[in-house]
Amino acid sequence: MTAVGEQLCYVDAYATTTEARVVAVEAGHAVGVVLDRTVFYPGGGGQPSDRGLILRAGDGRTWTVRAARKAEGEIVHDLEPDATDPPAAGDLVTVDLDWARRHALMRTHTALHALCGVVWRDYGAQVTGGNMEPGAGRMDFEFERMSGDLVDTIEATVNAELAAERDVRVDVLPRAEAFAIPDLIRTKVNLLPEGIETIRIIEIVGLDLQADGGTHVANTREVGRIRVTGYESKGRINKRIRIALEDQARAPA
Ligand SMILES: [Zn+2]
Repeated sequence: MTAVGEQLCYVDAYATTTEARVVAVEAGHAVGVVLDRTVFYPGGGGQPSDRGLILRAGDGRTWTVRAARKAEGEIVHDLEPDATDPPAAGDLVTVDLDWARRHALMRTHTALHALCGVVWRDYGAQVTGGNMEPGAGRMDFEFERMSGDLVDTIEATVNAELAAERDVRVDVLPRAEAFAIPDLIRTKVNLLPEGIETIRIIEIVGLDLQADGGTHVANTREVGRIRVTGYESKGRINKRIRIALEDQARAPA
């Protein structure tokens, strides 16, 4: 099934709200709402989905959206499990995402790509996985010679790259064109399923290029500074580096 809903998160990461029409409502364990347009990110690539609200224009009624997900190409907004009297197909609504949380995720996601870019450029180590929450994240690398001293250097280098105010660009390329970019091969773009004909690329200009579905800030200056909060060996080759945004790391829990 081809998605009918417009998915604004992939083209404008700064869109926080939109009006929309309810297309379908799935009843079940949790109520899932499909809209003809949304700003919600459905999760994926280590970035959690957005949270927020759906507000019905007709009567001002609001529902909390606790998560979003992709199902058959559509972004489904999951309401609280105890949501009663959900919106109905045809309702005109406003959908609002929790911007403070999303923006922290965007800053964190871009910080993790800067980390990948530095580790690849300076040490030739490939990323094998990653995950994040708002303000903090981790990346796993095939990085046999990682050490505490190296991690300090990496932290300083990443902060210098972020301070260099590099633009972050989003591009969508035909599969063949994306496969011709040598830097993309290292992120295992060749593992993408056959059916995918276009590939979305996130470029931190001059530093990093990755196939990625997530949301990012427009310039590295918006990330600020990061701190390496930990590193671990997950085996002889596989190493994990944990980072936090410096302003978030300082904030009380
Ligand atoms: Zn990413």
